[in-house]
Amino acid sequence: MSETDTATAEETVTARPKRKNELAGAGAAVQALGIVVFLLSFLLGPIGAVFGFIGMVILLLIGSRMSLRWICSNCRNRIDSKKVTVCPACHARLQR
Ligand SMILES: [Zn+2]
Repeated sequence: MSETDTATAEETVTARPKRKNELAGAGAAVQALGIVVFLLSFLLGPIGAVFGFIGMVILLLIGSRMSLRWICSNCRNRIDSKKVTVCPACHARLQR
């Protein structure tokens, strides 16, 4: 007589990392700073504008990375990156 395993040791919960964009936050502030840097760089002449443009692009990229967040669809916990395969909070398996 074998009992069916009603309670399995490992509960497999499959969750998906979700992209979550935050319009207001540190990322948006960094992007705004990038635009300000670009506009102010015009005061330094054409060479300054070139550096300002490069600075703006870097700040926009950093800002977009900061504003993009991954969350577990199961428990809505924040995940460091989408490369994380197991949610640290609810231990759900994260599938891409
Ligand atoms: Zn989770």
